[in-house]
Amino acid sequence: MEISRNWRLRYQRYKLEGTKCTDCGNISFPPRRVCPRCGSENYVPKELKPEGEIYSYALVSSPPEHFESQAPYPVAMVKLVDGPIVSTQLTDVDYNDIKIGMRVEMVTRRLRTYGNNGLIIYGYKFRPKEE
Ligand SMILES: [Zn+2]
Repeated sequence: MEISRNWRLRYQRYKLEGTKCTDCGNISFPPRRVCPRCGSENYVPKELKPEGEIYSYALVSSPPEHFESQAPYPVAMVKLVDGPIVSTQLTDVDYNDIKIGMRVEMVTRRLRTYGNNGLIIYGYKFRPKEE
């Protein structure tokens, strides 16, 4: 119980921050200076709940530069519970088990190691959410 709590808290260091239009309430991610729904330039930062469901997915076998060592890997469009759709890598899941509508949660993962000095780049990925 305690271990799993700490495990979850660890991941909250990396936040999904978008914007919320103060005129129509539309939530955008990544953050937008102009609301795509109503054109307003009035917005406030909005921290998004790091959960959603898989909207579409694909297997990447020809990755962009620096991601070669991870290929093939699954990517997905995840529809967040707050509304916006994010493009993300999936992790901790077998490609054959991925389904449209599957509930997922964000985790912070090492995306790649940079150069010979081993600088590590972290970012978010999504994995199946334990119910
Ligand atoms: Zn708006």
